[in-house]
Amino acid sequence: PVGQDDTGKNNITVVVRIRPENAREREGNSAVIVKPMNEHVLVFDPNEQSSPGYGGLRKKPRDIRKHRNKDLKFAFDNVFGPESNNIHVYETTTKRILNGLLNGYNCSVFAYGSTGAGKTHTMLGNATQPGVMYLTMLELYDRISAIGTEKSCEVAVSYLEVYNEQIHDLLMPGKNLPVREDANSGVVIQGLSLHKPRNADELFSMLQFGNKNRTQHPTDANAESSRSHAVFQVFVRQKDRTANISAEVRVAKMCLVDLAGSERATVTKNCGARFREGANINRSLLALGNVINALADHKYKGHIPYRDSKLTRLLKDSLGGNCQTVMIAAVSPSRFSYEDTYNTLRYADRAKYI
Ligand code: ADP
Ligand code: MG
Repeated sequence: PVGQDDTGKNNITVVVRIRPENAREREGNSAVIVKPMNEHVLVFDPNEQSSPGYGGLRKKPRDIRKHRNKDLKFAFDNVFGPESNNIHVYETTTKRILNGLLNGYNCSVFAYGSTGAGKTHTMLGNATQPGVMYLTMLELYDRISAIGTEKSCEVAVSYLEVYNEQIHDLLMPGKNLPVREDANSGVVIQGLSLHKPRNADELFSMLQFGNKNRTQHPTDANAESSRSHAVFQVFVRQKDRTANISAEVRVAKMCLVDLAGSERATVTKNCGARFREGANINRSLLALGNVINALADHKYKGHIPYRDSKLTRLLKDSLGGNCQTVMIAAVSPSRFSYEDTYNTLRYADRAKYI
């Protein structure tokens, strides 16, 4: 599934990751409503008989007259069940687009989903299970030292947050940073700090430090942090090691994005419809949905609405065209999150057609 073809149609990989039930869901005796059928297919709101023996014991008997199960099957490039770990998710998704990055193509990885679905766990992770951001960097260091004799290669990173349509540097907290487009260097965020962590430990503490600087309200951390998008950018600059000073310099970047919670970004029922605006809606998340819809629709001839939000403006050169994109849709397995999960699956389902 990952690979570029001439038509540019296969540039997006969409996977779904189902996290394990948490204590509240287990103790609340909620039914499991998202089940992997194999590596590529999951069933949402299954009929009992279509998946015998999977969490069935804990289910309350269901009143058939009241409840009709949707029993919807969705296919994705990959489906990761609750037993999967960050390394496995990383290896089947992001690792596969690193070649493109080293060949000079920009690329992007998103974690999408409602609050509590597992986005930050996947992208940032923790000390025992570092996430995609960290694992990507480890691999890059390895690859770069392997090609070191032919090319000189430099890697630098930045980490920022889009919150309330403002851009803040997470590694050097300060004022709102302006974003502009430059004919030569693409999208530029003015004043954003660049860093070159010297080893994996330094990188890890840097990510943790940045994450601590995400906007959070002291009394209700989740409600606020769930509205911010954390964007980790990796810049790779390569130059052939020849005597020739005019040797070609190749710069490419990868954007790894832990998106804001999608719970307020309700999708309308019709395919291709615009994402609905509403109270408290996250403008950047809506705009990203519309950009992805426009890219996904091959009949669409208009412009791609990158300019509608800060997030889409700063991702303009990493999304669409020759850029490889990975969308990791995170969901809870539990009936408690029925609507959120259904919306996330439909969003991810549409993103497949880019
Ligand atoms: P989000 O960032 O989408 O709001 P989190 O990544 O913070 O959600 O996950 C919510 C909670 O569930 C966290 O405590 C996290 O550690 C846990 N969690 C999420 N995904 C997994 C997973 N795949 N395995 C184990 N724990 C997970
Ligand atoms: Mg999070």
